Amino acid sequence: MEKKIEELRKEFRAEVGNAKNFEEIETIRIKYFGKKGGFTTLLREIGGLPAEQRKDIGKIINESSGEATRLFEERKKEIIEQTEEPGCAKDAVDISLPGKKFKTGRKHPITQVMDEAKDIFVSMGFQVVDGPEVETSYYNFQALNIPENHPARDMWNSLYLDKDILLRTHTSPVQIRVMEKRKPPIAIIAPGKCYRRDAIDASHSPMFHQIEGLLVDKNVTFGDLKGVLEAFVKKMFDKDAKLRLRPSYFPFTEPSAEVDIGCVMCEGKGCPVCKKTGWLEIMGAGMVHPEVFKHVKYDTREYNGFAFGMGIERIAMLKYGIDDIRLFFENDMRFLKQF
Ligand SMILES: [Zn+2]
Repeated sequence: MEKKIEELRKEFRAEVGNAKNFEEIETIRIKYFGKKGGFTTLLREIGGLPAEQRKDIGKIINESSGEATRLFEERKKEIIEQTEEPGCAKDAVDISLPGKKFKTGRKHPITQVMDEAKDIFVSMGFQVVDGPEVETSYYNFQALNIPENHPARDMWNSLYLDKDILLRTHTSPVQIRVMEKRKPPIAIIAPGKCYRRDAIDASHSPMFHQIEGLLVDKNVTFGDLKGVLEAFVKKMFDKDAKLRLRPSYFPFTEPSAEVDIGCVMCEGKGCPVCKKTGWLEIMGAGMVHPEVFKHVKYDTREYNGFAFGMGIERIAMLKYGIDDIRLFFENDMRFLKQF
């Protein structure tokens, strides 16, 4: 029995010293300490020894088994240390784990559409200009050929701050401010906020955004206007988007037109959005009225031009299929996150 223990001990020492990796150390664990392992079997046999041997032999078995366990743990620790990369402590950050996601901000859909529209017009040679949101009635109306007491003023439900001071109802006053300071040729767009005394519903908001366009030069034609708008619509919506001009009335343009695009929802077949017409109104446009040029002292025999104005909310609603303007101003993150 003692001989058997001694042999097992020698064998174990040799093997444990040679173990180089986790796989080998695991094989040793099973061979010596597993259910049918060498030391496990010996320890089990103590009970079956004759009483007179049990004390002495038992002691030897316990000692050799204890020693083997100690040697085994030492070797295992060495292997772990060798396997770990230098300088990489156990509790260090595991750089292979997926990182924490940071919440990124994004531009409001109105700002995105506004930026896109600006880029399109800038690519055609238009310059972006700014103007005040608080205007005098002269710039908002008179200079645009809407005299006081003219019934056309009813087209704009204005918000007055004082007798002659109001929140601009459209971005058109910027045209006048630019023409007062510069001589033609002029090609500008004026994006910005406008205000009207409108009750809030699915398609009205007392504050909204417009982009105004103005081009003044020699021999400008209605065809030039249509070409610019067509290029805009094709880039903003779809390269196959259709454009239609309908005769209309604005005090500051003559002739004037409402600009329609082929319905983006039904592609012209007719649906509730386009009221079964196949067309959607997206802006107003026309050739600048000679009366407007008179206010800025441009010679109407030499120069003419066109102007257009569009609502950005309207463009964004059609572009993304949004049916309620209020969604833009409610700041519901579930809505805004989609853009
Ligand atoms: Zn439709």
